[in-house]
Amino acid sequence: MYFKSTRDDSLAFSSSEAILTGLSPEGGLFVPDEMPAFDRTFAELSALSYQDLAYEVMKLFLTDFTEAELRDCIDHAYDEKFDTPAIAPIKEADGAFFLELFHGKTIAFKDMALSILPHLMTASAKKCGLDKEIVILTATSGDTGKAALAGFDSVPGTRIIVFYPKDGVSPIQKKQMVTQPGSNTFVVGIEGNFDDAQNGVKAISGNAELRAELAEAGFTFSSANSINIGRLVPQIVYYVHAYVSLLREGKIADGEKINIVVPTGNFGNILAAFYAKQMGLPVRKLICASNENKVLFDFFRTGVYDRNREFHLTSSPSMDILLSSNLERLIWLLCGQNAQENRKLMQELKETGKYEISDAMKAGLESFCGYYADEEETAKTIRKIFARDSYIIDPHTAVAACAYEKYREDTGDDTVTVIASTASPYKFTHSVLSAIDEKYDAYADFDLIAPLQELSGVPVPGAIREILDAPVKHTTVCGRDEMTAVVKGFLGV
Ligand SMILES: *Cc1c(COP(=O)(O)O)cnc(C)c1O
Repeated sequence: MYFKSTRDDSLAFSSSEAILTGLSPEGGLFVPDEMPAFDRTFAELSALSYQDLAYEVMKLFLTDFTEAELRDCIDHAYDEKFDTPAIAPIKEADGAFFLELFHGKTIAFKDMALSILPHLMTASAKKCGLDKEIVILTATSGDTGKAALAGFDSVPGTRIIVFYPKDGVSPIQKKQMVTQPGSNTFVVGIEGNFDDAQNGVKAISGNAELRAELAEAGFTFSSANSINIGRLVPQIVYYVHAYVSLLREGKIADGEKINIVVPTGNFGNILAAFYAKQMGLPVRKLICASNENKVLFDFFRTGVYDRNREFHLTSSPSMDILLSSNLERLIWLLCGQNAQENRKLMQELKETGKYEISDAMKAGLESFCGYYADEEETAKTIRKIFARDSYIIDPHTAVAACAYEKYREDTGDDTVTVIASTASPYKFTHSVLSAIDEKYDAYADFDLIAPLQELSGVPVPGAIREILDAPVKHTTVCGRDEMTAVVKGFLGV
């Protein structure tokens, strides 16, 4: 299998090259040259552990990894860092199946991919004969930063530097990052917002002079963001896992179609579900759930992608995104894998902030539909599901549950449905508890940990317990124009 660029047909990369490079040199995203099909039946796959299933799915994409290399990566990722041997357990509530993707080290679904990416990356470096230390630069609005830090912590041959907006993350997210152990980790607060951090990281990694200087000193930059195929491929696994788990438990028949609902920001998670469908997973509809930043909802209704609009800060911050990078991979498929056509649309997006797809391309969207939930509906959904099933979900998952309810009302479709549950409610205690009862409004996030345990009956996760008394290790704060100096300082260059 080779990986092509969505913007240049003439390029072909092996999976290890694509993982190391992240983004194609001309700005395109790597896409598999053809979608592989499962080579085992669902009945066979349903007998496997999560780890063995991960191997069966990932081997179809990472064809230049040996079995031993890939299994080694998987074994280092999906181990006792997860608080359940099921890795991604499924809970039935409110007429749907919640696929809990938050049992990893940092209690958000980012762990599903970022616990394996560092191992895929160091294995790729070895295969490609890279003789430099890999420096991961990441800008974060909250969840990615901590998940990347936890993933790369103490991985030999790597260092990681995370920039977060100093006043733009939740108290729990901030504490998670600044207490991060590991001699190869570095966390910096930026005097600015997430876009400033993101632009700074882009400027640093695109600075040819700096790259040369660092190469001299034995370092090379890479990225852990969600466009890396080393993050996308591991995300396909849990949709297959959900299907074969429902099959094993007799909730569906072999071959029966399911719906999948995904709370969406950068379009990475739902794209993985679409890849699973293309590989042959029986899926009827992929329901793309948005919060008040509903660019994707509008896109699925009209075929027009338009980021020129007001930006809303919501209780589901990891979905507060107006530019969904991974959508480009779907657009490329819709225009018949035509890099030229795709590049034209992406150029339009860059210049005007919008583009419209053709009627022929719109016809290719029939697997998808979009719904959105505003802030009030999100809170109402948390309250309703708790009242009915004593099950407490986080605001991102609540956006998805609300979208599903609207879909069901509109269509009457009673297909068995899986909802991707992307974060633990313990990460957003204030939003969650004040949705359930306004008496919690006056309290801070950290004061609501014990009340959440009492109400939910779910023990406080290790990720929360370990930060309560952990010493602060990272106190660096810098201005937007000091980021390069900070990076050089950390690397001793
Ligand atoms: C990142 C994130 C999302 C959005 O996922 P995408 O792959 O960017 O669409 C949703 N929920 C949570 C909790 C997240 O951390």
